[in-house]
Amino acid sequence: RPVIKAQSSPDYAPDSQFYKIEAILRPWRVAHVSSGLMKMGIRGVTVSDVRGFGAQGGSMERQAGSEFSENMFLAKVKMEIVVSKDQVEAVIDKIIEEARTGEIGDGKIFLIPVSDVIRIRTGERGEKAERMMGGLADIISTASSN
Ligand code: ATP
Ligand code: GLN
Repeated sequence: RPVIKAQSSPDYAPDSQFYKIEAILRPWRVAHVSSGLMKMGIRGVTVSDVRGFGAQGGSMERQAGSEFSENMFLAKVKMEIVVSKDQVEAVIDKIIEEARTGEIGDGKIFLIPVSDVIRIRTGERGEKAERMMGGLADIISTASSN
């Protein structure tokens, strides 16, 4: 498969220290995506089973009426990953690499600024809460201190 990367990113607006990457994926690609993310040091991921309608549903000839009807929605998985700004592009490229088939229905990625992160156990906020032990930031700082 050819490597497809996200086209060069503009400065994200609005600017934020953290972003949530929300990816709508084919259910059978989720294991590939999550193991790819794990290997690069992503430790915090949330997934939900969702149902969606996009070009894939629209490409099918059906439905006499113009109303959305229950059976137009296809099973998808929503994956949500909050990371620091400097990790966003690497995560997006990994998701594309692992999720893409090149066929209609591969899904979409939304990028959402996040105002704060709070760790419930400790009450920590911001960078302390967003950092995860052995995570990507730790891997990068260990590599550069050697
Ligand atoms: P603690 O050290 O208290 O365990 P933690 O930061 O490791 O805190 P968890 O309490 O283990 O966080 O996380 C609970 C859930 O929160 C996870 O199962 C996951 O769904 C979600 N989650 C945690 N961090 C992230 C993140 N950065 N992005 C998306 N989801 C996350
Ligand atoms: N940015 C965090 C870190 O490097 C990882 C965030 C995540 O795993 N979602 O520790």
